[in-house]
Amino acid sequence: MCDKIFSMELIQPVFKKYQWGSQTKLQDMFSVTKNGEKLAEAWFGSHKNGDNISKIYKSDLPYLFKVLAVEKCLSLQVHPDKLTAVKGFQSEQEKGLAIDSPTRVFKDSNSKPEMAVALSPFLVAVGVKSSKAQEKFELILENKANISVEQLDKITQKIQNRLKKAKPGELNNLLAEQAFLYARQDYPDDPTALLLLEMNVEKLHPGEAVYLPDGVIHAYIRGECLEIMKNSDNVFRAGLTNKYIDTNLVLRYTNFTPLASYQPDIINKTIYSTNYLPKDAGFGIMLVNCRAKNKIIDLTGPKIVLGLDGKFEINGQLVTRGQAFFVPNKEKICVNSLSKLGQGKFAIAHI
Ligand SMILES: [Zn+2]
Repeated sequence: MCDKIFSMELIQPVFKKYQWGSQTKLQDMFSVTKNGEKLAEAWFGSHKNGDNISKIYKSDLPYLFKVLAVEKCLSLQVHPDKLTAVKGFQSEQEKGLAIDSPTRVFKDSNSKPEMAVALSPFLVAVGVKSSKAQEKFELILENKANISVEQLDKITQKIQNRLKKAKPGELNNLLAEQAFLYARQDYPDDPTALLLLEMNVEKLHPGEAVYLPDGVIHAYIRGECLEIMKNSDNVFRAGLTNKYIDTNLVLRYTNFTPLASYQPDIINKTIYSTNYLPKDAGFGIMLVNCRAKNKIIDLTGPKIVLGLDGKFEINGQLVTRGQAFFVPNKEKICVNSLSKLGQGKFAIAHI
């Protein structure tokens, strides 16, 4: 039972309008007028490119929490480890390369582990299928293969035929092929679409998650998710983007040994909550459902509460879909679900 009312403060998302976003998804979730513009990300954090926290919280938030609506592939990318980021940032600073220069790679001296929790069926390419992929990556990224659009079209035709002939039960074994077709549709001239065929492609159901530590090459293909990451902008891009690409850095820092699992650790699973807490990442996401009746959730550090579905009374305030609140370090979260059984859900970003 909640013996006192803990404090929390309403915060507004900072939206990012990227071309891979959606004209409807985030608009619906956050009650924003639809004007034909694409919204790709809603940010919650104290990052300099999108800050809705520092007015109410004096230190930097150690994570950045986002909602993503992916209707076109995000770049095929990998993030550096901490040491690489420290050295790279220092070296670019010494060269006098401006932070906002399009060729600037190290925007800060942090690593950037990320975790995504699916809100809808979410197609994502994470890591390589086998260490043999390295050869294919080198061939395509170093442009030794010299693949023409005609060759890409032929491969696309073959894959389309294969998918057409597949029985419904077989489609789940052809996710990399489906990702490839989406990438072809989004970036018709880009041969790095072929690299998706060498990758581990998963279709996450809502509530399923992937964790992307440094060195794991990845691309989000389609769907909506919650994402949490360290406060960093350090990205090496291989393709599927109009942004700056650095294939040397991608080849140097990609881990070509597949991991045993890309799922984050899940701790404290109860009938009313699931806590996704990747080991050593320094951040986590807890999903709380409609079974939470008069529950105290005691998580350390600064927290962000985001309503996803249904109605909750949290710390004395009504929380519905798209509403976000900041909960300071020492405050707990006292929750009472007002939703029908099976209907309510909210997320807590935390450390
Ligand atoms: Zn990433």
